[in-house]
Amino acid sequence: MNPGALALPLIAVSPLLGASARLPLRVAACAAAAGVVALAWFFFNVADEVAMAILPIWIVATLVTLRFGRGFPEGGTVTADALESLRKRRAALRGDVAAAERDEVRALQIYGAAKAMASALSLEDMGPRVASAVQRLFDSYEFILYAIEKGTPAPLQRRGAWKREPPVDRFPTEATVVRPPAVSEIVPVLFIPIAAPGAAIGGALFVKVSGEARQEPELVRIAADLGPQLAMALAKALLFRQLELQSRRDGLTNTLRRQPFLDRLAEEFKRGAVFKTRFSLLMIDIDHFKAINDTHGHPAGDAVLTRVGKILNDSIYETDAAGRYGGEEFVVLLPRSEPDGALRRAETLRARIEAEKIPTAFGELRVTVSIGVANYPAAGSTVDDLVSAADKALYRAKDAGRNRVVGS
Ligand code: GH3
Ligand code: MG
Ligand code: MG
Repeated sequence: MNPGALALPLIAVSPLLGASARLPLRVAACAAAAGVVALAWFFFNVADEVAMAILPIWIVATLVTLRFGRGFPEGGTVTADALESLRKRRAALRGDVAAAERDEVRALQIYGAAKAMASALSLEDMGPRVASAVQRLFDSYEFILYAIEKGTPAPLQRRGAWKREPPVDRFPTEATVVRPPAVSEIVPVLFIPIAAPGAAIGGALFVKVSGEARQEPELVRIAADLGPQLAMALAKALLFRQLELQSRRDGLTNTLRRQPFLDRLAEEFKRGAVFKTRFSLLMIDIDHFKAINDTHGHPAGDAVLTRVGKILNDSIYETDAAGRYGGEEFVVLLPRSEPDGALRRAETLRARIEAEKIPTAFGELRVTVSIGVANYPAAGSTVDDLVSAADKALYRAKDAGRNRVVGS
């Protein structure tokens, strides 16, 4: 049999081989098959009937290839759609990457701010760190930082010109942007609650934000992340302050220990020398205190010391200082006081202590004190001069019968 006649059916189905190729290749495969069939017909002298039988095979193979080959019939449009959807996907991915990068920058900024704030060991140290965090995170220089201590909000730091204090009776529970006129400023104010997750509010940070700096949801997100970090830093600084105060104060009477008191007195001498101000020192000794210990025991004596310390602390101004000089001896510094005024204040203290009924495990006790008063500059120009003058006056008060005030 003519070998061409055998090869022709195979050549006729050969367009199918191009079915998985792109459209131009498929067309080329079909055309090539048609050409080869025509040449074979011509060279191998294939009978017309055979050739006519091969032709439908080629047509079917060509149609199948073009129709069911990759993507036909919409091959062209599918490619364009695919391209379009790829473009969209790429744009979306770019958006996601940009958002992720922004999140990362924000997280790093918050982390940096939190780290800086957490390393502050005192409230004074916190001020500049909060200022730089506010500047970096919110593009603002103006803020007020409040801490709530023993239930009362107290401003710790204030930067910038504020028309009015933010309404601290309305402490924020969630980070929010409050716009004028709800705040008395001309720009919106970001309210940031300072609270560890699940814990009570420990304070608040109010930041003036100019609308353009960042989008509001972004500001709120940053604020919500910052609040808990601030809470930890603030709690730490408050704890350190408490420790410092405790180490300066005597545990039993809550008055200053001897050395911190003397340091305070030395400062007052410097101030007195520079500003020519006067001040007075009171040396206070509980009368017959040994008898209280002997009769009722040391715990009763301690209760008396605690109460006398409290009376002194409660009776003096914030600028005054009360200290425990020794066992049952107290000292009080009265800055900017004239000798007469100091004697009157000493007498008030004496009377207050005498009037106090001090509860102890053995019932109410009463004590009296003797007080010696010395004044700067009359009594001398050094701490030792003043202490010794007050001490001498105290012993004159004891000699004169106790329960009285004597000036130096
Ligand atoms: P005077 O009127 O002369 O001052 O008599 P006094 O008994 O107060 O004086 P004295 O200096 O003889 O006694 C002071 C006593 O204070 C002796 C000491 O045991 C007691 N004392 C000192 N420190 C403490 C303390 O921390 N707790 C108690 N309970 N007693 C203390
Ligand atoms: Mg004494
Ligand atoms: Mg005494």
